[in-house]
Amino acid sequence: MRRYFVGGNWKCNNTIAQTQSLINTVINKLVFDANKVEVAVAPIFLHVPWVQANIQKNVQVAVQNSSLTKMGAYTGEISVEHVKDLGIPWVILGHSERRQYYGESNEIVGKKTRLALDHQLSVMACVGEKLAERESGNTTQVIQAQLEAIKKELTTEQWSKVVIAYEPVWAIGTGRTASPDQAQDVHAFIRGWLRAQLGTQVEQATRIIYGGSVTEKNAADLIKQQDLDGFLVGGAALKPGFADIIAAAN
Ligand code: PGA
Repeated sequence: MRRYFVGGNWKCNNTIAQTQSLINTVINKLVFDANKVEVAVAPIFLHVPWVQANIQKNVQVAVQNSSLTKMGAYTGEISVEHVKDLGIPWVILGHSERRQYYGESNEIVGKKTRLALDHQLSVMACVGEKLAERESGNTTQVIQAQLEAIKKELTTEQWSKVVIAYEPVWAIGTGRTASPDQAQDVHAFIRGWLRAQLGTQVEQATRIIYGGSVTEKNAADLIKQQDLDGFLVGGAALKPGFADIIAAAN
C-alpha cells in the first residue's frame, strides 16, 4: 500500500548552468510510473524558481531546509511561508549535515518539522546514527531520541505528510553503504516504533526511506528489504545513474 519515494538531495552543489543541464538531460528524461514511485528533487533555494518552471510534471520540487521561525526580522533565513508561497510541496529537515555543521538539535528538528507541517508542507525527516554511536551499540537509542523529538511536536494526523529518511551518518558521502540487512534492521526498528507510539495505521502508511551512498549499483538490493520504501540520494542524484535508482524502485 505504500508508494515508493525517491528524493534527490542536491545539497550545496551545482551552478545554475549545471542545474539546468541536470534537469534537461537527466530529470526531464526520467520515465517512471508515478503511481508506483513518487520522486522529488531538492536544488539550492536560488535555483528553485527556474527548476519549478522547467521540470517535468511527474517530478516534485523540494527544498533542503527551512527556518525555525516564521517570516520576520531573521536576516538570511527562508521561512516555511516562503516555501509554501512558491508552491513547493516538500522540505528536507534534520539532515545530518544540518545537525552536524549548523547545530540543529533534535528539539530544533522537531520544531521545524511542526512548523512545516502546520503550513501544509510535506517533510522528509532525517534520522541516523554516527559511526561511534553504532560501534558503541547505541544506534536504536539515538534514532529513538530523534524520532521522539519529532513526535513530541506533531499530531497523529500530521504523520501522514512525513517521510522518514534513515541516513546513517557514516554512510553519507563516504561510499560505505549500509548493507541491506543493516538498513532493514533499523527500518524495522523504526516501523516498530511507529506502531508502538502512533498505531498500526501510521505504521503501515509511513514511508521509511534509506540514504547514504545509494547508487545505481546497490539500489536494487536495498529496495528488496521489506521495510525500505525508497531512497534519499545525494551524490548519485547529480548524475545520470539517478535514473537507474528510480528504475530500481519502479
Ligand atoms: P550520499 O548523500 O548519497 O551522497 O551519501 C545522501 C544524503 O546525504 O542524503
